[in-house]
Amino acid sequence: MKSIQQNIKEIQADIPKGVLLVAVSKTKPIEDIQAAYEIGVRDFGENKVQELQQKFETLPKDINWHFIGHLQTNKVKYMAPYVSIIHAVDSLKLLQVINKEAHKNNRLIKCLLQFHIAEEDTKFGLSLEQAKEILDKLPELQINNIQIVGVMGMGTNSVQEEKVRKEFNNLKLIFDELKKTYFQNTSEFSQISMGMSQDFKLAIEEGSTMVRVGSTIFGNRQYV
Ligand SMILES: *Cc1c(COP(=O)(O)O)cnc(C)c1O
Repeated sequence: MKSIQQNIKEIQADIPKGVLLVAVSKTKPIEDIQAAYEIGVRDFGENKVQELQQKFETLPKDINWHFIGHLQTNKVKYMAPYVSIIHAVDSLKLLQVINKEAHKNNRLIKCLLQFHIAEEDTKFGLSLEQAKEILDKLPELQINNIQIVGVMGMGTNSVQEEKVRKEFNNLKLIFDELKKTYFQNTSEFSQISMGMSQDFKLAIEEGSTMVRVGSTIFGNRQYV
């Protein structure tokens, strides 16, 4: 079996400059994260609040923690003191809670709006219409402690390349539309988080700026 460090080097060789590799370390032990950290990885993705908390406490404080899972509003307060970016924001309520908790901590938390682009209806996310409703309301709400930096989506878990490519292209079009309508003069709105182990190369071809790669780096996950 190849080492974590070798896996990362191979993936980095496939990623152009300007695309960030987020190493998805969920379910994996501290030592695995340390191995990645040693060769310079600083961006890690987690999807469970408690697990993230434990890892944050143990590991170096210059890590950028990406929360990539579905987030309940009552859990935001635990990560607000340190989380760098929340990938899966799918409601105005959640944005408001993140803002409130970020304000308490005197921080600015980056957020991505999650879109539903896959065919599976189990995957969370907004439609373009729903996102516009949220963005139309934002200006009156005095939301100053979050920064919406882009969009996030998950393609269908499928080997049909053309299908997944179309979904990624759809997310890119959503990004372009929102940029034009709401964020024309906002340089921070610049990120498209799409692509995982099996489809990150495809996602990059379709405009991804952040790939979230887990099992190709750390091996398959075992859930108990
Ligand atoms: C688990 C997870 C990933 C990483 O998946 P791999 O297939 O292991 O690369 C990426 N994004 C999200 C939202 C995840 O939950």
